[in-house]
Amino acid sequence: MHPSGSELIVHDAAIRANTAAFARLTGGRVMAVLKADAFGHGAIARSVLDAGAASIGVAAIPEALALRDAGIAAPVLSWLNTPEADFAAALRADVELAVPSAEHLLAIGRAARELGIPARVHLHADLGMSRDGCPPREWAALCRLAREFEALGGLRVVGIMGHLSCADEPAHPQNTRERLVFESAVRTAGRRGLTPRTRHLAATAATLTGAVPGFDVHRIGAGLFGIDPSRSTSSLRPALTLRSRVVSVREVAPGTGVGYGLDFVAERRTHLALLPIGYGDGLPREASGRAEVLVRGRRRPIVGRFSMDMIVVDTGDEALSPAEPVTLFGPGDAGEPTVAEWAAWSRTIEHEIVTRLGSRAARIHRSHDTAPRAQTAGGPRT
Ligand SMILES: *Cc1c(COP(=O)(O)O)cnc(C)c1O
Repeated sequence: MHPSGSELIVHDAAIRANTAAFARLTGGRVMAVLKADAFGHGAIARSVLDAGAASIGVAAIPEALALRDAGIAAPVLSWLNTPEADFAAALRADVELAVPSAEHLLAIGRAARELGIPARVHLHADLGMSRDGCPPREWAALCRLAREFEALGGLRVVGIMGHLSCADEPAHPQNTRERLVFESAVRTAGRRGLTPRTRHLAATAATLTGAVPGFDVHRIGAGLFGIDPSRSTSSLRPALTLRSRVVSVREVAPGTGVGYGLDFVAERRTHLALLPIGYGDGLPREASGRAEVLVRGRRRPIVGRFSMDMIVVDTGDEALSPAEPVTLFGPGDAGEPTVAEWAAWSRTIEHEIVTRLGSRAARIHRSHDTAPRAQTAGGPRT
């Protein structure tokens, strides 16, 4: 037991099963997206590679370097860096880099020349969401510049990537629009003399729904962790269980208030249990007044405002024992709340719940536990 009293169990078997399902679905063309500490799941790179992922994608270069430090030799792509980022370190670590602008291309090209290590880059096209990637107006110029760098040697465009704004709604007309922008970007690159071997567009939602073709690589993040933004399948397995333990218990009289502001007031005589986990550990304070836990096989409400380090559970007529385990969320098989329920209680998405969990709860990787949910034969339904 971690000194904090809380533990975050990572079900590696579930992540491996999800990865294998996407590998089957895509014919082995999965780039496992392990940004933000693998969506809060920690060290699972080796598991996803063993289960069929062909490469790894991360946002920033330090995330890629951490994978190399952990001994991961698979291809790694980093797509979100400022033009002042340590591209030299990325090149020395054999990390591929996405290029959203001429400034990035110049900085990467310069680092590659100085080191004498050729850079492998993926040109990133903005397809409509006006976020990351090169705007359509500047795309042809970026391709021309990239071709000039290729001709000088020391840099090679190996990929073209785009990202969809509305893939979780497969019928949204924007999916077709953005696919056409992507195809046009690929043609423009070809006309400028670039010959990238991989084009990649689809992430979890588009891969599950088939909203757009996957092209050569599917960048799968959420789905590896049992999160389906499109809500089109029920066969993915959630991969986290968060448990804590009771610090102390008390019986209180009707009219007793709980926590800051005394937002909750007991209506009847009841038992309260204190858990040593709060918003400082990543529990969303927004879920105050709605969230539940599972203890002794029953759902019990968390009452009062969440504090930084603690929450209070109302257990009614039942008095828990100090040190007794309580489940905050899990795959849902035993009736415990799921990450999806926590997201609804907090008016956010599952991604935010899993990525905000702090380091105070020890991450415990279980590689051989029984899979939390029976997998249907063919993997995710499409
Ligand atoms: C996070 C991210 C992904 C993965 O998306 P999921 O919906 O989690 O599969 C893919 N591509 C880019 C550019 C991303 O930032």
